[in-house]
Amino acid sequence: MTDIHPHATLPRYDKETLLGQQGIVLWFCGLSGSGKSTIASGVERVLHQQGRFTIRLDGDNLRTGLNANLGFSDDDRLENIRRTAELAKILAHNGVIVLCSLITPRGMHRDMARGILEEDLALVYVKASYAACEARDVKGLYAKAAKGEVAHFTGRDSGFEEPQNAELVLDTERMTVEDAVSEVLDFVSGRLASA
Ligand code: ADP
Repeated sequence: MTDIHPHATLPRYDKETLLGQQGIVLWFCGLSGSGKSTIASGVERVLHQQGRFTIRLDGDNLRTGLNANLGFSDDDRLENIRRTAELAKILAHNGVIVLCSLITPRGMHRDMARGILEEDLALVYVKASYAACEARDVKGLYAKAAKGEVAHFTGRDSGFEEPQNAELVLDTERMTVEDAVSEVLDFVSGRLASA
């Protein structure tokens, strides 16, 4: 590390001024099928219509490229989240509104993301029970997991610890997608207004 000399980049403020917005990372965590991607894409659509520059970092999508060499063991999940958080940090420091959707099952994973992103991170807990996600089973994974065909399946073979320090909790068993999306949008405008 001693031979690595990072170069100065243009100040964040210049990038944010160019874009007319402030960088922030909305980090959606929750069980598979809880609604992370559905809500993140709804939020992105509206922000885009409002002229905001957004980038989505979706766990499944990243696993087809940047994180293609990672599985679902504890170590690999940690590295998956570390890489995603570091990428989100670069983007937020350049004024981008970043929407990450990753299960992020453990407190230590979320703490690591918060350690990397600091005050740029807004943790959004997309809450739905295992039973509700199993009933939705959007990707057919719960049926496969019930037959023991998915290794390290979150909520079954691998634990999900409920976040205690989320900036926002969206209970998708009790609210519509539209309500969840507008709650996130309200949060974003409040956060950016107070920054
Ligand atoms: P995840 O990204 O968390 O794996 P998805 O967004 O892919 O989950 O899937 C969530 C599923 O739950 C979608 O089929 C969505 O239509 C459904 N759903 C039902 N109610 C809600 C809600 N209130 N918020 C988000 N998704 C919901």
